Formats: sequence, C-alpha cells, structure tokens
Amino acid sequence: MIQYKEALKDILKNASPLPAEKIAIENSVGRILKEDIYSMLEMPPFDKAAMDGYAVRALDAKDAPVTLKCVGLIQAGQGFKRKLKQGECVKIMTGAPMPDGSNSVVMIENTRQKMGCVEALEAVKTGENVCAKGEDFRRKDMVCKKGREISSSDVAVFAAVGRHSVKAAKKPEVAILNTGGEIIQPGASLSRNKIFNSNGPMLQALLKSDGIESCFLGIARDNIRELKSAIKEGLKKDVLLVSGGVSMGDYDLVPEVLASLGVRKIFHKVNVKPGKPLFFGTKNKTLVFGIPGNPVSNFLSYLIFVRPALYKMMGYPYCKPEFKEGLIEKKFDTKTGRKHFVLVKITKKENQYHLAPVASHGSADIIALSKADGFMVVGKKIKFITWKII
Ligand code: AMP
Ligand code: MG
Repeated sequence: MIQYKEALKDILKNASPLPAEKIAIENSVGRILKEDIYSMLEMPPFDKAAMDGYAVRALDAKDAPVTLKCVGLIQAGQGFKRKLKQGECVKIMTGAPMPDGSNSVVMIENTRQKMGCVEALEAVKTGENVCAKGEDFRRKDMVCKKGREISSSDVAVFAAVGRHSVKAAKKPEVAILNTGGEIIQPGASLSRNKIFNSNGPMLQALLKSDGIESCFLGIARDNIRELKSAIKEGLKKDVLLVSGGVSMGDYDLVPEVLASLGVRKIFHKVNVKPGKPLFFGTKNKTLVFGIPGNPVSNFLSYLIFVRPALYKMMGYPYCKPEFKEGLIEKKFDTKTGRKHFVLVKITKKENQYHLAPVASHGSADIIALSKADGFMVVGKKIKFITWKII
C-alpha cells in the first residue's frame, strides 16, 4: 500500500498533456490556448463614433453653444462621401465611421434642433466620443498568448480579429463503467436486493463540471465475460473509470480482468480513508482508475486522484488538488493511521474557514455527502478540499 502523495505523483507522471486540436471559438472557453493569436487588422479599423450625436470639427464647437449646419447622416456600416467643412456637422450613429474633416462627436443629449440647424450646447475636445483607428490593437499585435486558459472575453477577441477557430488543448475522452450485480440504472424498475446506480450519474456530473462529456459504458455484472467486453471498449478512450469491484471480495474481479487485457498496474491500494482499494494502471496511452464502489469513495477519488490527471491532460498549470487551511471548533481525532478525509460543512467568517464534521454512516452515506461542502484532513494542520464556492 502506498501513501497519498506517492499515489498522486504516480498518477501525474503517467498523465501527459494531450495534443492540440482546432476548435470553433465558441466552444473554446476553459481550454488552454495552443497558439499565439495575432491580429490581421487594426482595432477599430477606422475612426468611429463612440456615441450617437453629431460629428463636428472640435474647433467649430469650442465656443458652445454654437449653431452648426447639418449636412447629412451616417449610419453604422455606411460611409460619408465628402469632407466636412467649417461650420458643418453630420448626424452620426455609434459605430459609424467619422467623416473626413471631423474629429469629435457632440453627443445627442448635448444638442438641440434650431431652425433646420443643430445647436451644440457643450464644447468638445479633439477626439472626444471617438474611438481612434488602432487604439485597441494594431495589425500584427499579439492579442492572446499561447498557454492561456481561454475565457469568454478572449472569444470576443478571437472573433474581432476574424478567427472562427483556434488551436486549443484537447479534452480527454473519458469512459465510465459501473460494476456490480446489485446495480440498476435509475429509471429502470428496482427489484429485490438491488440498488440504483449513484456513481455513474455522479461521475458524469463531476466530469461535466470539468467541461468533459463522458461515454457511459453501462453496468457490468461481476463476471469475467461482461467485465472484459465492457473494459475492452473503455480502453479505446484516454481515461477509463471503473467503479466497484476492486476490493477484497470474491467477486471483485476488476484488477484480474484489467491484467488479462494488458493493463499495467501502477498501484493498487492507497493509504487513504475512504477509498483505500483504489487501482491505477495504464495501457498504452489510456489511464485506468479502478475506484471502490461506495459513492463517497468514488466522489473523493475523483477529487483527489482522477481530476488532477484530467487537468494535467488538458494542459492546466494547476493540476494538483487545492487544500486550504481551516479551523475546527472541537478537537477531532481520526486515529486510523490512514489519511482520513472527513466530510465537513464549511463556513467563512472573517477570512477564516470554519469546519464542522457532518454526521455520517460511512462511505455509502450519500446524504452526508450531499450535506457536506468538503473533506477535511487532520494532520499537523487542519486542511480541507471543497467542490463548492464558499
Ligand atoms: P464494491 O467496491 O464493488 O465492493 O462496492 C462497495 C459498495 O458500494 C457496495 O455496497 C456496493 O453496492 C456499492 N456500490 C457499488 N457501485 C455502486 C454504484 N454504482 N452506485 C451506488 N453504490 C454502489
Ligand atoms: Mg461490487
């Protein structure tokens, strides 16, 4: 049996960043950008009005109020055919190009109609209410750097420079297989001695929260034939999560089936509670996690073992689980000698996290899991990991 740190190290050593792929910009949020993005144009590409109003020569409006002759109207997307002369103005809409000769916009709220002319009520400075050509970025400027985690605002930048796709790190394809003769998919009818499959939907939801669509391989009963055929399918993916069947029972056949299919065992059993029987192995580029079947073990294993591997594959610089320091009201003794993860409620008071253990019947207790905000680990310091925003 190995220690938690060693297990995590082994997992991360075997998880490699996936190659880049071209994806539509609207699907790129959250991915790591795999190319520098340069602009092919100036932004804005022309001097444009930043307000609805009247394009003027600032000099003409300097002694406002002043009356100007309105000689036309420019809509966004249109141009104006001639140069503005002294004493003239042109009605202009936000986003429309400034006519030649003009250099500022008197906003519509600061004007008044006066006998077929326009009265500018306030003076404007040169360049006021105008976005100057190239003021945001210039041609050949780098607008987004390789290695960055793409945000929704970056998508607007890609679009503004005319890109409809970018190169980004691939996401892993993840297969989920649940095992156990007692497990029935929710929606089907529950017969005697059976329970519904909590782990499958829960793992799918966890993956979704990390932006990963998973492939559900169904539920295999505890026999070599069913396990083999499902696991074979799963080994075609980047990551295979098998829940159940990795402990010490007579029908815990998963490690044996994995070995028969050529999966190289990296470790089996980690000194953590819950989740001790965790199996980790590889076949070619596929990472295989055999996760003990109790839902709380499944959930914790995902947080502290599976997610770090997925993050590394997706190219994130922060792939290790984040543990923060917390405080407990009452002394808490875990005594097991194992790294013991205890479900806790977390409250933040004056910038400190206060942890309160949640009563639990053990690692099958999903109600305790759903009441909790995180897992606490009591060591020299009291630390916790959470999956919520606190
Ligand atoms: P196992 O790891 O297969 O020995 O399962 C340990 C415990 O977790 C048993 O009580 C199983 O019934 C339960 N269990 C296994 N798989 C699931 C699942 N998909 N959903 C809910 N409970 C499960
Ligand atoms: Mg089982």
